[in-house]
Amino acid sequence: MELVKDTLESNPAGNSYKLGEVTLMCPKCQQIFATACVDEIPVLNPLARIEADLHRVLPDAAIRAAMIATCPNCTYTWWTESFIPNDTVPLMAIDAPSIDPVKKFGHAILSSRMYGATNLEKAQIALNAYYCARDSFQSGEKILQIAKEELRNAIETEPYLKNRSRHIYLMAEIYRLSGEFHEAVKFYFQVDRSALLPQELLDHQIRQAKLGNAKPVTIPNHIVKQIYDLRISADRAARFLFMSAVA
Ligand SMILES: [Zn+2]
Repeated sequence: MELVKDTLESNPAGNSYKLGEVTLMCPKCQQIFATACVDEIPVLNPLARIEADLHRVLPDAAIRAAMIATCPNCTYTWWTESFIPNDTVPLMAIDAPSIDPVKKFGHAILSSRMYGATNLEKAQIALNAYYCARDSFQSGEKILQIAKEELRNAIETEPYLKNRSRHIYLMAEIYRLSGEFHEAVKFYFQVDRSALLPQELLDHQIRQAKLGNAKPVTIPNHIVKQIYDLRISADRAARFLFMSAVA
């Protein structure tokens, strides 16, 4: 398999995303195959482009798609890092199927249902499927509805959910993006300080919901900086926001 893309230019800070390839073994059927992987992710910085639902806008949908892998034998699709590493040189291994990034996440949603993922895992996959659609300049409306169901299930059924307040904020954003403004406002008001989100962002998004704005909103750099400052002390801050904002 050739490199999907050598270097994908990223953000104004000049860092770059790099895709490479790796050989893996499917944990379900033991098929060995070569697939794309993310070799380099720029560290989150205040200039990063982040939307109000806290997902980082990526310069190419292929990057998010490389975070998951599809087995060419059984089509099991899950986070790339959850597959078993294999020493075979990628050139000598069977290639992973070439699938459109959004469809690849569709396979991951199916796998999450087939293989008994937790409600939170299902929500994380569905949310990333939606972000991938947005990275591909699609509205992702249908996937957003799946994400809404899955995240609501996770919030309702997992009482000790980590970062609960952030998930509640995400739920509010999903309702706003779905045009369900009353529900959105209800959830925004349940967000507390443990979400580590600036009050300015919350006030802004509540205003958007009350105005009936269902469109994606890009967070201004000064608010990204506030979020960044609030999170900078936390470990894995960059990865947390990059993955999906639901760690
Ligand atoms: Zn397999």
